[in-house]
Amino acid sequence: MEQLDKILNKALQDSSPLDREELGFLLDITDPGQLQKLYRAAYQMKERYIGRRVSLRGLIEISDYCVKDCLYCGIRKSNANVPRFAMTKAEILQAAELGREYGYSSLVLQSGERSDPAFVDFVEDAVRSIREIGDFGITLSCGEQTRETYQRWFDAGAHRYLLRIESSDREFYGTLHPADSLHDWDKRRHCLDLIRETGYQLGTGVMSGLPGQKTSHLVSDLEFFREVDADMIGMGPYLPHHETPMGKLITSFDPEKALETGLKMIAVTRLFLRDVNIASTTALQALSPADGRERGLLAGANVIMPNIGDIAYRRGYQLYENKPNIDENRLETRRKLEESIHAIGETIIHGWGDSPHFAAKQK
Ligand code: SAH
Ligand code: SF4
Repeated sequence: MEQLDKILNKALQDSSPLDREELGFLLDITDPGQLQKLYRAAYQMKERYIGRRVSLRGLIEISDYCVKDCLYCGIRKSNANVPRFAMTKAEILQAAELGREYGYSSLVLQSGERSDPAFVDFVEDAVRSIREIGDFGITLSCGEQTRETYQRWFDAGAHRYLLRIESSDREFYGTLHPADSLHDWDKRRHCLDLIRETGYQLGTGVMSGLPGQKTSHLVSDLEFFREVDADMIGMGPYLPHHETPMGKLITSFDPEKALETGLKMIAVTRLFLRDVNIASTTALQALSPADGRERGLLAGANVIMPNIGDIAYRRGYQLYENKPNIDENRLETRRKLEESIHAIGETIIHGWGDSPHFAAKQK
């Protein structure tokens, strides 16, 4: 326990960042009492830099067509059993209107990866049209693109971009993806530079609990977030999907452990990076439908992205199995979420909820 107290005190009081050994120690905790201490310390850090506040963003999954074949992902190109869909612009605008009705002034548009001209034009037009109907903050999460595309989407009115590096370790990344030029770590890494240089608030992140992943990989991930100077972090536990090459090889999966690792990553990221936005992602909710995302908030996250896309499409957009809420009535979902946020003593922010880390750099 002494070692834990020493590390948490250093994280909370010192200006010098934790070192690899200390980060690894925190990520290896399994004792329930020690875990609670870790989450409480992370929450203290969140209170200091963010407050007891959570930003909600309406998530719109605009299409599940994807040119890539990431070995873990349910909507990978080679999965022929996925019903493919692409929302029309009118449907996206309808979802944005719904978001406005719900009081979400920030939206996230996410999709499978495509870089053909029709898709690039479509996203540009959709972003511009959303900005025409309201003062929305727009985050994009549409994969690897060229500098020109990132610029066009930025000029159309998007101002945050999420591109998870998935793993900061080039070699380990190689085990999660086909070995071809479409799935090249260096190219993905370079995209983070392009996104930052274009002027977006930069979001990245990883999956935790991947087969073969070690604590040292996760420690490197944390150091990577600092190195790329990320403004936002979106992380989640890996969830097996049986129609994927990786999912087929998984023989046992422990949801409790997956959730715990996901929560630890959130807590240690909060202690290590302090003032960034951290999402409490749907994957946590998938593992613990009753309170996964709320536990994420209590471990230091400050952003939740409720899905506001059309329910009819959600069966298609299954990155992993048992994705929550696909059948739930949206109003009901929202009411429950708001109640559970208030129940843990947090307030919902109604502005754009930009990253304090990004704001601090602009001064
Ligand atoms: N195509 C874009 C955005 C959509 S995928 C991209 O890849 O960047 C969004 C995220 O879903 C990915 O970054 C990945 O981290 C996550 N994801 C995919 N399959 C998953 C799985 N089986 N379990 C957990 N997360 C998964
Ligand atoms: Fe496509 Fe993203 Fe899934 Fe990879 S993770 S297959 S890029 S949707």
